[in-house]
Amino acid sequence: MLIVKLKHCSILSGFYMHEWALAESILTAAVEAAEKEKFKKISEIVVEIGELQQIAMDAFEFALNEIIAEQAGILEGVKIRFKTEESNLVCNNCGHEWSFSDMKKKLNEDQGESIHFIPEVAFVHSRCPKCNSPDFEISKGRGVSILSMKGEK
Ligand code: ZN
Repeated sequence: MLIVKLKHCSILSGFYMHEWALAESILTAAVEAAEKEKFKKISEIVVEIGELQQIAMDAFEFALNEIIAEQAGILEGVKIRFKTEESNLVCNNCGHEWSFSDMKKKLNEDQGESIHFIPEVAFVHSRCPKCNSPDFEISKGRGVSILSMKGEK
């Protein structure tokens, strides 16, 4: 039923299916957790989004609101808050750890923007700030999860 509605909406296209799926899985997980805790209502959900997660926030928020309106019940009137999870990068050569924000300072604005949208570019433009090795991994800052929830019993 939700999918049908999606097709009629001009700002959502196949491109935003990712955001829709994310919104759906976040809310499903929240409802499941709330039912386990015997909550009658969920009043607030804090969603944590990694700063390197590729997500269209307007589409994500739209999907959340649509699903909440559709399901009502336990989700009625819920407030969704967003928090950014700072990234963490680890050098495979020397073990040094740093964050995307540190890295961004070293790049010019244009490159910084392209990294925001395409995290893979980070691997092209950056090296470990300590040993200069290009061999590093993103250990934090990707993905979307529920940080906390408030509810009424
Ligand atoms: Zn290093």
